[in-house]
Amino acid sequence: VNGEDDIRIRREAVTLKELIGGGQFGNVYKGIFTQSDVNVAVAVKVCKAENEPADMQLILQEAHVMKNFKHEHIVAMIGVCAENPIWLVLELAPLGELRQYLSGNKGVLSASTQVLFACQLSTAVEYLHSNNYVHRDIAARNALVSSPQCVKLSDFGLSRALDYDAVYTASRGKLPIKWLAPESILYRAFSMSSDVWMFGILVWEIFAWGVKPWSGVSNVDVVGRIETGERPVRTPDCPESVHDFLVHHVWAFEAHKRPVMSEIVRVLQEVADQLKRWVRP
Ligand code: ATP
Repeated sequence: VNGEDDIRIRREAVTLKELIGGGQFGNVYKGIFTQSDVNVAVAVKVCKAENEPADMQLILQEAHVMKNFKHEHIVAMIGVCAENPIWLVLELAPLGELRQYLSGNKGVLSASTQVLFACQLSTAVEYLHSNNYVHRDIAARNALVSSPQCVKLSDFGLSRALDYDAVYTASRGKLPIKWLAPESILYRAFSMSSDVWMFGILVWEIFAWGVKPWSGVSNVDVVGRIETGERPVRTPDCPESVHDFLVHHVWAFEAHKRPVMSEIVRVLQEVADQLKRWVRP
Protein backbone atom coordinates (compact mmCIF):
# COMPACT_ATOMS: atom_id res chain seq x y z
CA VAL A 1 0.00 0.00 0.00
CA ASN A 2 1.31 3.42 -0.91
CA GLY A 3 1.60 5.87 1.89
CA GLU A 4 0.83 9.55 1.73
CA ASP A 5 4.52 10.44 1.39
CA ASP A 6 4.78 8.33 -1.73
CA ILE A 7 3.07 11.03 -3.73
CA ARG A 8 4.50 14.14 -2.07
CA ILE A 9 7.14 16.18 -3.80
CA ARG A 10 9.20 18.92 -2.22
CA ARG A 11 8.30 22.25 -3.80
CA GLU A 12 12.01 23.10 -4.07
CA ALA A 13 12.36 20.21 -6.52
CA VAL A 14 9.99 21.91 -8.96
CA THR A 15 10.81 25.01 -11.01
CA LEU A 16 7.91 26.68 -12.80
CA LYS A 17 8.51 27.91 -16.34
CA GLU A 18 6.12 29.41 -18.87
CA LEU A 19 2.33 29.27 -18.64
CA ILE A 20 0.77 26.67 -20.95
CA GLY A 21 -2.88 26.99 -20.21
CA GLY A 22 -5.61 27.79 -17.78
CA GLY A 23 -8.24 25.43 -16.48
CA GLN A 24 -11.03 25.64 -14.00
CA PHE A 25 -8.75 24.46 -11.21
CA GLY A 26 -6.00 26.92 -11.91
CA ASN A 27 -3.16 27.58 -14.30
CA VAL A 28 -0.95 24.98 -15.88
CA TYR A 29 2.75 25.74 -16.31
CA LYS A 30 5.62 24.03 -17.95
CA GLY A 31 8.15 23.10 -15.30
CA ILE A 32 11.29 21.23 -14.44
CA PHE A 33 11.27 18.52 -11.81
CA THR A 34 14.66 17.66 -10.37
CA GLN A 35 15.17 14.29 -8.76
CA SER A 36 18.61 12.96 -7.80
CA ASP A 37 20.26 15.46 -10.15
CA VAL A 38 18.10 14.46 -13.12
CA ASN A 39 15.87 17.13 -14.67
CA VAL A 40 12.54 16.13 -16.14
CA ALA A 41 10.22 18.44 -18.09
CA VAL A 42 6.80 18.37 -16.46
CA ALA A 43 3.43 20.12 -16.49
CA VAL A 44 2.44 21.71 -13.18
CA LYS A 45 -1.19 22.39 -12.37
CA VAL A 46 -1.27 25.14 -9.79
CA CYS A 47 -4.60 24.73 -8.02
CA LYS A 48 -6.42 27.92 -7.18
CA ALA A 49 -5.71 28.85 -3.59
CA GLU A 50 -9.33 29.31 -2.63
CA ASN A 51 -10.03 25.57 -2.53
CA GLU A 52 -11.90 24.47 0.59
CA PRO A 53 -9.89 22.22 2.91
CA ALA A 54 -12.39 19.40 2.22
CA ASP A 55 -11.86 19.80 -1.52
CA MET A 56 -8.12 19.77 -1.04
CA GLN A 57 -8.41 16.48 0.79
CA LEU A 58 -10.36 15.07 -2.14
CA ILE A 59 -7.86 16.40 -4.65
CA LEU A 60 -5.04 14.68 -2.77
CA GLN A 61 -6.99 11.43 -2.52
CA GLU A 62 -7.73 11.43 -6.20
CA ALA A 63 -4.12 12.30 -6.99
CA HIS A 64 -3.26 9.11 -5.13
CA VAL A 65 -5.62 7.05 -7.23
CA MET A 66 -4.18 8.58 -10.37
CA LYS A 67 -0.63 7.94 -9.26
CA ASN A 68 -1.46 4.24 -9.26
CA PHE A 69 -2.68 4.32 -12.84
CA LYS A 70 0.31 3.61 -14.99
CA HIS A 71 -0.43 3.35 -18.68
CA GLU A 72 1.44 4.49 -21.78
CA HIS A 73 -1.65 6.42 -22.94
CA ILE A 74 -2.58 8.08 -19.68
CA VAL A 75 -0.72 11.22 -18.58
CA ALA A 76 1.22 10.12 -15.52
CA MET A 77 0.77 11.77 -12.15
CA ILE A 78 4.31 12.33 -10.93
CA GLY A 79 3.48 13.80 -7.55
CA VAL A 80 1.97 16.58 -5.53
CA CYS A 81 3.19 19.54 -3.51
CA ALA A 82 0.47 19.21 -0.95
CA GLU A 83 0.36 22.49 0.93
CA ASN A 84 -1.65 25.41 -0.41
CA PRO A 85 -1.38 26.23 -3.21
CA ILE A 86 -1.49 22.59 -4.30
CA TRP A 87 0.77 21.81 -7.22
CA LEU A 88 -0.03 18.71 -9.24
CA VAL A 89 3.08 17.61 -11.06
CA LEU A 90 2.21 15.75 -14.26
CA GLU A 91 3.97 14.17 -17.14
CA LEU A 92 4.30 16.82 -19.87
CA ALA A 93 2.51 16.27 -23.18
CA PRO A 94 4.66 18.59 -25.30
CA LEU A 95 2.29 18.88 -28.28
CA GLY A 96 -0.66 20.06 -26.21
CA GLU A 97 -4.36 19.58 -26.67
CA LEU A 98 -5.60 16.93 -29.08
CA ARG A 99 -8.42 19.11 -30.46
CA GLN A 100 -6.05 21.89 -31.41
CA TYR A 101 -3.53 19.42 -32.82
CA LEU A 102 -6.23 17.84 -35.01
CA SER A 103 -7.60 21.14 -36.30
CA GLY A 104 -4.06 22.41 -36.93
CA ASN A 105 -3.20 19.29 -38.89
CA LYS A 106 -6.46 18.85 -40.74
CA GLY A 107 -5.88 16.89 -43.91
CA VAL A 108 -2.21 16.51 -43.03
CA LEU A 109 -2.49 13.54 -40.70
CA SER A 110 -3.26 10.22 -42.35
CA ALA A 111 -6.30 8.11 -41.62
CA SER A 112 -3.86 5.61 -40.07
CA THR A 113 -2.77 8.21 -37.55
CA GLN A 114 -6.36 9.03 -36.67
CA VAL A 115 -7.12 5.35 -36.15
CA LEU A 116 -3.91 5.01 -34.15
CA PHE A 117 -5.01 7.83 -31.82
CA ALA A 118 -8.44 6.22 -31.38
CA CYS A 119 -6.78 2.85 -30.69
CA GLN A 120 -4.38 4.28 -28.14
CA LEU A 121 -7.12 6.09 -26.26
CA SER A 122 -9.30 2.98 -26.32
CA THR A 123 -6.56 1.03 -24.56
CA ALA A 124 -6.37 3.78 -21.93
CA VAL A 125 -10.10 3.57 -21.18
CA GLU A 126 -9.97 -0.23 -21.26
CA TYR A 127 -7.19 -0.05 -18.68
CA LEU A 128 -9.26 2.21 -16.41
CA HIS A 129 -12.25 -0.11 -16.72
CA SER A 130 -10.12 -3.13 -15.91
CA ASN A 131 -9.28 -1.26 -12.71
CA ASN A 132 -12.98 -0.69 -12.07
CA TYR A 133 -12.68 3.03 -12.68
CA VAL A 134 -15.41 4.90 -14.54
CA HIS A 135 -14.00 8.04 -16.17
CA ARG A 136 -17.22 10.05 -16.78
CA ASP A 137 -15.59 12.79 -18.85
CA ILE A 138 -14.20 11.17 -21.97
CA ALA A 139 -13.89 13.78 -24.74
CA ALA A 140 -11.27 15.04 -27.15
CA ARG A 141 -10.78 18.11 -24.93
CA ASN A 142 -9.41 15.73 -22.28
CA ALA A 143 -6.75 14.17 -24.48
CA LEU A 144 -3.25 15.49 -25.02
CA VAL A 145 -0.59 14.82 -27.63
CA SER A 146 2.83 13.59 -26.49
CA SER A 147 4.37 13.03 -29.91
CA PRO A 148 3.06 12.78 -33.48
CA GLN A 149 2.41 9.09 -32.89
CA CYS A 150 1.28 9.15 -29.27
CA VAL A 151 -1.78 10.58 -27.54
CA LYS A 152 -2.76 10.33 -23.89
CA LEU A 153 -5.82 10.74 -21.77
CA SER A 154 -5.05 13.72 -19.58
CA ASP A 155 -5.36 13.71 -15.84
CA PHE A 156 -8.94 13.34 -14.83
CA GLY A 157 -9.09 12.97 -11.14
CA LEU A 158 -10.08 16.51 -10.39
CA SER A 159 -13.46 16.41 -12.04
CA ARG A 160 -14.11 13.21 -10.15
CA ALA A 161 -12.80 14.44 -6.84
CA LEU A 162 -14.86 17.57 -6.88
CA ASP A 163 -18.32 16.28 -7.65
CA TYR A 164 -18.76 16.04 -11.41
CA ASP A 165 -22.04 17.96 -11.64
CA ALA A 166 -20.72 20.70 -9.41
CA VAL A 167 -17.57 21.05 -11.50
CA TYR A 168 -19.49 21.42 -14.71
CA THR A 169 -22.44 23.41 -13.50
CA ALA A 170 -20.46 25.73 -11.25
CA SER A 171 -17.47 26.60 -13.37
CA ARG A 172 -18.38 25.73 -16.91
CA GLY A 173 -22.03 26.57 -16.65
CA LYS A 174 -23.21 23.38 -18.25
CA LEU A 175 -22.83 19.64 -18.35
CA PRO A 176 -21.10 18.24 -21.44
CA ILE A 177 -24.51 17.15 -22.75
CA LYS A 178 -23.31 16.47 -26.28
CA TRP A 179 -20.85 13.85 -25.01
CA LEU A 180 -23.14 12.18 -22.50
CA ALA A 181 -24.97 8.88 -22.91
CA PRO A 182 -28.75 9.28 -22.81
CA GLU A 183 -29.02 7.68 -19.35
CA SER A 184 -26.44 10.18 -18.05
CA ILE A 185 -28.49 13.09 -19.40
CA LEU A 186 -31.81 11.68 -18.20
CA TYR A 187 -30.87 10.10 -14.87
CA ARG A 188 -27.30 11.19 -14.15
CA ALA A 189 -26.36 7.53 -14.47
CA PHE A 190 -22.67 6.89 -15.13
CA SER A 191 -21.12 3.51 -15.78
CA MET A 192 -18.56 1.78 -17.95
CA SER A 193 -21.30 1.66 -20.61
CA SER A 194 -21.79 5.43 -20.47
CA ASP A 195 -18.00 5.77 -20.82
CA VAL A 196 -18.30 3.63 -23.96
CA TRP A 197 -20.85 6.04 -25.44
CA MET A 198 -18.58 9.00 -24.64
CA PHE A 199 -15.63 7.19 -26.14
CA GLY A 200 -17.66 6.89 -29.35
CA ILE A 201 -18.08 10.66 -29.38
CA LEU A 202 -14.33 11.05 -28.89
CA VAL A 203 -13.69 8.80 -31.91
CA TRP A 204 -16.16 10.88 -33.92
CA GLU A 205 -14.26 14.06 -32.88
CA ILE A 206 -10.93 12.59 -33.97
CA PHE A 207 -12.23 11.95 -37.48
CA ALA A 208 -13.97 15.35 -37.51
CA TRP A 209 -10.55 16.99 -36.94
CA GLY A 210 -11.48 18.30 -33.53
CA VAL A 211 -14.90 19.67 -34.43
CA LYS A 212 -17.43 19.25 -31.64
CA PRO A 213 -20.42 16.92 -32.10
CA TRP A 214 -24.06 17.94 -32.66
CA SER A 215 -23.17 21.28 -34.20
CA GLY A 216 -26.19 23.54 -34.60
CA VAL A 217 -28.21 21.49 -32.11
CA SER A 218 -28.92 23.09 -28.75
CA ASN A 219 -28.20 21.11 -25.60
CA VAL A 220 -31.85 20.75 -24.63
CA ASP A 221 -32.64 19.09 -27.97
CA VAL A 222 -29.86 16.50 -27.95
CA VAL A 223 -31.54 13.78 -25.89
CA GLY A 224 -34.74 14.05 -27.93
CA ARG A 225 -32.76 13.58 -31.13
CA ILE A 226 -31.03 10.54 -29.65
CA GLU A 227 -34.38 9.07 -28.55
CA THR A 228 -35.73 9.28 -32.08
CA GLY A 229 -32.71 7.37 -33.35
CA GLU A 230 -30.60 10.25 -34.61
CA ARG A 231 -26.83 10.06 -34.09
CA PRO A 232 -23.89 12.35 -34.98
CA VAL A 233 -23.54 12.23 -38.77
CA ARG A 234 -20.50 10.72 -40.45
CA THR A 235 -17.87 13.30 -41.35
CA PRO A 236 -16.11 12.95 -44.73
CA ASP A 237 -12.86 11.54 -43.33
CA CYS A 238 -14.40 8.99 -40.99
CA PRO A 239 -14.12 5.48 -42.45
CA GLU A 240 -17.60 4.05 -43.02
CA SER A 241 -16.75 0.91 -41.07
CA VAL A 242 -15.87 3.02 -38.04
CA HIS A 243 -18.98 5.16 -38.27
CA ASP A 244 -21.23 2.10 -38.71
CA PHE A 245 -19.68 0.52 -35.64
CA LEU A 246 -20.35 3.67 -33.63
CA VAL A 247 -23.94 4.04 -34.81
CA HIS A 248 -24.98 0.40 -34.52
CA HIS A 249 -23.10 -0.68 -31.43
CA VAL A 250 -21.29 1.98 -29.43
CA TRP A 251 -24.21 4.42 -29.50
CA ALA A 252 -26.87 1.83 -28.71
CA PHE A 253 -29.60 3.58 -26.77
CA GLU A 254 -29.71 0.83 -24.19
CA ALA A 255 -26.52 0.76 -22.18
CA HIS A 256 -26.37 -3.03 -21.91
CA LYS A 257 -26.36 -3.38 -25.71
CA ARG A 258 -23.12 -1.43 -26.09
CA PRO A 259 -19.82 -3.28 -26.51
CA VAL A 260 -17.30 -3.32 -23.68
CA MET A 261 -14.04 -1.40 -24.12
CA SER A 262 -11.96 -4.51 -24.91
CA GLU A 263 -14.27 -5.16 -27.86
CA ILE A 264 -13.77 -1.59 -29.07
CA VAL A 265 -10.00 -1.97 -28.80
CA ARG A 266 -10.23 -5.10 -30.94
CA VAL A 267 -12.41 -3.48 -33.61
CA LEU A 268 -10.19 -0.38 -33.87
CA GLN A 269 -7.09 -2.55 -34.13
CA GLU A 270 -8.76 -4.43 -36.97
CA VAL A 271 -9.47 -1.15 -38.78
CA ALA A 272 -5.82 -0.14 -38.27
CA ASP A 273 -4.65 -3.44 -39.77
CA GLN A 274 -6.97 -3.04 -42.76
CA LEU A 275 -5.64 0.45 -43.46
CA LYS A 276 -2.09 -0.88 -43.43
CA ARG A 277 -3.01 -3.51 -45.99
CA TRP A 278 -4.57 -0.88 -48.26
CA VAL A 279 -1.54 1.36 -48.11
CA ARG A 280 0.92 -1.46 -48.72
CA PRO A 281 -0.92 -4.30 -50.47
P1 ATP B 1 -9.85 19.38 -16.24
O1 ATP B 1 -9.44 19.01 -17.64
O2 ATP B 1 -9.62 18.28 -15.27
O3 ATP B 1 -11.22 19.95 -16.21
P2 ATP B 1 -8.70 22.00 -16.10
O4 ATP B 1 -9.76 22.41 -17.05
O5 ATP B 1 -8.53 22.76 -14.86
O6 ATP B 1 -8.85 20.50 -15.72
P3 ATP B 1 -6.79 21.23 -17.99
O7 ATP B 1 -7.75 21.29 -19.12
O8 ATP B 1 -6.37 19.91 -17.51
O9 ATP B 1 -7.33 22.08 -16.79
O10 ATP B 1 -5.49 22.05 -18.33
C1 ATP B 1 -5.52 23.34 -18.88
C2 ATP B 1 -4.60 23.40 -20.09
O11 ATP B 1 -3.25 23.11 -19.70
C3 ATP B 1 -4.95 22.33 -21.11
O12 ATP B 1 -5.87 22.79 -22.02
C4 ATP B 1 -3.61 22.01 -21.73
O13 ATP B 1 -3.35 22.90 -22.79
C5 ATP B 1 -2.62 22.28 -20.64
N1 ATP B 1 -2.17 21.03 -20.01
C6 ATP B 1 -2.74 20.39 -18.96
N2 ATP B 1 -2.06 19.30 -18.61
C7 ATP B 1 -1.02 19.22 -19.46
C8 ATP B 1 0.07 18.29 -19.62
N3 ATP B 1 0.21 17.23 -18.84
N4 ATP B 1 0.95 18.52 -20.60
C9 ATP B 1 0.82 19.59 -21.42
N5 ATP B 1 -0.17 20.49 -21.31
C10 ATP B 1 -1.08 20.32 -20.35
